[in-house]
Amino acid sequence: MTTQNITVLGSTGSIGKSTLDVVARHPEKFTVFALSANTQHEALLEQCLKFRPKYAVMRDESGAQRLREGIVRAGLNTEVESGVAALEKIASLPEVDTVMAAIVGAAGMQPALAAARGGKRILLANKETLVMAGQLFMDAVRENGAVLLPIDSEHNAIFQVLPRNYTRDGGGGVKRILLTASGGPFRSFSREALEHVTPDEACRHPNWVMGRKISIDSATMMNKGLEVIEAHWLFNAGADQIRVVVHPESIIHSMVEYIDGSILAQLGNPDMRTPIAYALGFPQRIDSGVESLDLCRIATLHFEEPDLSRFPCLALAFQVLKAGGSAATILNAANEVAVQYFFEKRIRFTAISEMIEETLSKLGALPLDTVEQAIEIDRMARVAAKALLSQVS
Ligand code: NDP
Repeated sequence: MTTQNITVLGSTGSIGKSTLDVVARHPEKFTVFALSANTQHEALLEQCLKFRPKYAVMRDESGAQRLREGIVRAGLNTEVESGVAALEKIASLPEVDTVMAAIVGAAGMQPALAAARGGKRILLANKETLVMAGQLFMDAVRENGAVLLPIDSEHNAIFQVLPRNYTRDGGGGVKRILLTASGGPFRSFSREALEHVTPDEACRHPNWVMGRKISIDSATMMNKGLEVIEAHWLFNAGADQIRVVVHPESIIHSMVEYIDGSILAQLGNPDMRTPIAYALGFPQRIDSGVESLDLCRIATLHFEEPDLSRFPCLALAFQVLKAGGSAATILNAANEVAVQYFFEKRIRFTAISEMIEETLSKLGALPLDTVEQAIEIDRMARVAAKALLSQVS
């Protein structure tokens, strides 16, 4: 029996660890080919000891050196490399079948693109790739025969309930996408109360255990905004075909509404191992280790409209989707800077959206036809956002 060779980019993160948890349940199906981390060399060494990959990549050489020492001490054959070129390499080597793209933020774009250019089966968790360079990435997927499987629970749900005869030009009777949102930890907070929330409070998501950046994005609802843009690229849906529905229990992971009035939904416990297992096994279903959903215990599900005045990041995402071009790239970069500043307690929670809005109006529309331009726009937007620190803090 042949196994799938898997590269897990960002293997020490929340999605990376959940991926390895599912992979470990199916040793006959998957072989871990390569792993990567940013700074956590000790955690990556632990993973290397368990999965014995051919390659392990750290973001910089000092981390790689520390990892290499551990690898030599343990007598492993894993080759240790560092840098973006090494990430691109482990995403695109001919031996690789599947790439889990689970680096957080804009740093995930170049390796994800390399996987697309290599024609790989891509399990895409890094939504920022689609927000920064959606057209370029989707073109690379199509031109190189890559297979794209969404990992975000909402997009994975939509993928599961779309008709098999769905065509990206509206075939299959699809009317619109209903993207569910938990509303995050501050769903019922007043605008006044939002002024004073702390990074620790923002990271305490009521339903999901996630990395730090996406936790803040969930709290501002920018995560849902990024997902609206992601849905646009994955399913060729316009801004008016995507409706965000707040559903605090996070049991329905998203829905598709059809022209005959039917709405199909995917339900499950909020555990990322379900969408990960779905994508790993596709088109077969494989065990994920996730507990069965007990609907009688859940008993009640709630739905409400998102409040765009308290969560302006979501409104900004819809605006940039309508504007097109470089706007989403700028939004993504400014958001990353603002989230980092919030973590460092240099700006208030409510200043995150202010910083993004100001950066967008400062930079305006810029040409975006190449990856190099996307990287340059990302850089410019970060500089512009940082320059706003004294104005918006
Ligand atoms: P984490 O912060 O938990 O993990 C991020 C991973 O990327 C880690 O392995 C980290 O290494 C690595 N990394 C961070 N920065 C860099 C960099 N500059 N260069 C190379 N590697 C880097 O994030 P999550 O797992 O939560 O999220 C990963 C992606 O998946 C994000 O795009 C997120 O939006 C998306 N996603 C996450 C979900 C979740 O439930 N967590 C749900 C849906 C989507 P190190 O550990 O060394 O820092």
